[in-house]
This record gives sequence, C-alpha cells and structure tokens, in this order.
Amino acid sequence: SVMTVGELAEAIGVSAVELIKALIRRGVMANINQQIDFETAAKVAADFGVELVERTPEVVHQEKSLAEIVRASAQEPGAVPRPPVVTIMGHVDHGKTKLLDAIRHTNVAEGEAGGITQHIGAYQVEVQGRKITFLDTPGHEAFTAMRARGAQVTDIAVLVVAADDGVMPQTREAVAHARAANVPIIVAINKIDLPTANPARVKQQLAEIGVIVEEYGGDVPVVEVSAKQRLGIEDLLEMILLVADMHELKANPNRPAIGVIIEAKVDQRRGPVATVLVQTGTLKLNDVVVAGATWGRIRAMFDDRGRKVRRAEPSMPVEILGLENVPEAGDYLQVVEDERTAKEIATQRALKRRAEAAEARVVKLDEFHKGLEIGQTRELRLILKADVQGSLEAIQNALAKLNDELEGVGITVVHAATGAISESDVMLAATTGAIVLGFNVRPDVAARRAAEASGVDIRYYNVIYHLLEEVRAGVTGLLAPET
Ligand code: GDP
Repeated sequence: SVMTVGELAEAIGVSAVELIKALIRRGVMANINQQIDFETAAKVAADFGVELVERTPEVVHQEKSLAEIVRASAQEPGAVPRPPVVTIMGHVDHGKTKLLDAIRHTNVAEGEAGGITQHIGAYQVEVQGRKITFLDTPGHEAFTAMRARGAQVTDIAVLVVAADDGVMPQTREAVAHARAANVPIIVAINKIDLPTANPARVKQQLAEIGVIVEEYGGDVPVVEVSAKQRLGIEDLLEMILLVADMHELKANPNRPAIGVIIEAKVDQRRGPVATVLVQTGTLKLNDVVVAGATWGRIRAMFDDRGRKVRRAEPSMPVEILGLENVPEAGDYLQVVEDERTAKEIATQRALKRRAEAAEARVVKLDEFHKGLEIGQTRELRLILKADVQGSLEAIQNALAKLNDELEGVGITVVHAATGAISESDVMLAATTGAIVLGFNVRPDVAARRAAEASGVDIRYYNVIYHLLEEVRAGVTGLLAPET
C-alpha cells in the first residue's frame, strides 16, 4: 500500500517539513502530496522511532462490516476516482432491455477491438475516455437482492419512462427502491421517436410522484432518448458521468479486493462460475477469496468480452473461476490471507446462515413491540397499498398523526401506491424490514408466493379505523398474535 508524504507525517506525528527533511537525508526528494512506497515509508518512520506495519487483508466475518470497509476505502490515502455503477429501472416494456442493448453498442460502433459482449451480469462502456459500468439485469430484482446483505452496488439509477405511456406502477416502485437505497436518479424518457410521445406529460407526472426534474426547479436530470433509434444515448452517458462527478466516487485500488457477487451458476465444464463487481482494491489471479458462504482461489478471470484478464480494478465486473461452491447474488467477495482463513470464514458463515434462515428475520406487526422492548428497533416501516388514491391519502395522513402521537417510535411509510400488492412490494418489505398493509387490495400470485418464501407480514383491511388501531396496537404491544 502507498500513502502520501503528508499522510505519513500525520501518522508518525511529525510535521511534513521534518519528514521531507528526513526523506532528503535518505536521498528521496518528495513534496507533501507525493506518494511513497511502503519500504521507504517504513525506513523513514524508523528514523523517528516509529515502526510501520504493512497492511494485510482484514479478517472480517460480518458481511455488514465489509460494506463499511468499502465505504471507508473511498477516504483512504490511495483512493482514486472509479467508474460509476448504473442500474436501469422502470416499468415493464418501457425499454430497459433495449436501452441496455443500445448502450452496449455505443462502443462497438466505435470499432473497439475485442469481440462481442458476453452476458456476465454487468458490462462496461467507455465514454470520453472514461468507463461506466452497467448492471445487466434490468429492474430492481437485482437491486433488492444485493441490498439484502447490506451491499450497495448501484451508484446511479436510470429511470426509464416511455414517452407514450408515462408514469406507471413499476415506475413508482423503482423510485421507491432508489430512494430507499439513497441512490440518485436520472430520468431517461424513452421512445421519443413515437408520434404519440409526450415528454412534457411524463415530466408533469413525475413531479406528481415527487420526482422533480431540473426544468421544474428540481434536481433530477432528464434525458430524452430513443433506445430503438439509438438517439440521445451519448447524452445519457454524459449525464451519467456528470452525476458521477458530483458524487466523487472513489475507491482504493491498492488494497486487497472486496467485491459483490452479481451472478453465479454452475457451469457443466468449468464448475462454479461467478461474476464479481469489484468495489475496492484490485482482484488478482491466484488471490484466495471468501465469497459469501464459500471460498476458493481465483483460477481464471474473464472480462465482459470474454477476454482473459489478470487483474480487476474497482467497478470492473469479472467472471471468476475457482470457487468451491456457488455463492449467492449479493454475497460479498473478499480477498483473505490464506486458504485456512478462507475456509474458516466460509464455514462459519454457512452455519450462521442456516441458523438465520430457520429464524426468518422478518418483522411481524404482532411481534414489533418485542423488538421495541429490547431496543432492537425504534421504527415501524410500512408499505401501503390501496385501491384508490383517496384512501391512500387518508391513511397516510392518519398515520402521520399517529406518528406524532407516539413517543420514541417512528412510523415510516417506505412506499405507498394504489393497486394490488405486487412481488416487488414484498421484496421491498423484505429488504427494508417493512410490513405490507393492503387496503381493499389483495396480493397477486407472485406476491403471495414471495410472501410465503420470505415470511413478510401482509395485512388486509377495509376500514381505515381498523388499520390504524392495529398499527397502534402493534406499536404499543397490545396486538394479539395471529393464530
Ligand atoms: P423492458 O420490458 O423495459 O425491458 O422493455 P423492452 O426493452 O423489452 O422494450 C419493450 C418494447 O418497446 C419492445 O417491443 C421494444 O422494441 C420497444 N421499444 C423499446 N425502446 C423503444 C424506442 O425507443 N422506441 C420505440 N418505438 N420502441 C421501443
């Protein structure tokens, strides 16, 4: 690992001037912002009686702590700008897949060498000499799976809205997902080639759901595109770079790698194959890694064009071979010291997961109070679905009043919308620890299946008063468990 002269001075506890003088005595001419290698740093530190220890990979058992290490690495001395990671979201048929294809082809048109893009779960394109990484699974399924382990993979969400169709239920869901993850949104109004396209109406509708575009005095950028005719794609990519710059995305390539598994499967010939999106550090051939509840040694790596690579830097997706088993999407991958450590962490995780799966970590309204008593939670999260807008608003207003009334507990509405309870609602509930309340609506088949699998609590009402009383009873611990 490397650090600057200024940082080393601070670490040793001497002034930069003193340190620079000491370096000169050793024949090294360096200014305060210059990076020096570990060997030199250790020698000059020894001159001040300080012993420097080179950093080895952290042994981290808790996956949530890995998310923190990734975040912290952006502030490390060696941190440099990294490409943004983008997810495309939006209503079905609004053109997410087509847009991903159009973007994928922007580079090929420039005649870049290196073959056809493989579907490994993510790909990179180059714009103005800078890279952008796109997650290849449109929609928020990937998004929520990632977040289950606390991993934040997406830096920017591109919200696709068809210019002829406007804001639809899944547009709202996408907004809720992006907001829950605190990810900035860029709106891509698609299909502007159609004669029925009405971008102005789309912007108006977006404003109605709280997505205020720049034209309307908000801060959400909009780009008009046609994925089909490949119009406006460059503008969209430039906008992504602009938003990325505003967020100063950084990572430290000079450290042991940590990444997130985007996709994984067993290949008949090659065994377990996984796509990793490196979040910090550089992943190298022969690195020993833990990936979720499995481990291995990186035997081979391929980029998104199927080319063999030896290293993968931050924000780069690579397909890896060499894992013992298939990890899950959303699992963290981390480089560790040796195989013994890797095996140990993987085994412990496998056991812990089995235990957790049995316990099912979901919030039930009739058990909420227990969590409250032991100080585990202070916030009741809700997802509201109602048949009509009027009821939805009435419930939200009443809940806001109840929230003011309750002491020490917050009621947060994670998402509120009209329409049947969908699979996406259930997934959002599972990832945010929310309870789903349906007013005069029922779940569809997929939602029911998802609720059974995840254990998410769905409750139904047709009288607003009953809904409020149950929420109140849940918070105060007076709700009788369901039999
Ligand atoms: P997804 O469900 O959001 O992934 O949507 P698709 O990418 O599959 O697109 C749905 C339909 O809209 C397909 O028939 C596309 O050909 C069409 N489509 C997508 N983008 C455009 C566009 O820019 N203009 C027009 N006219 N049609 C488009």
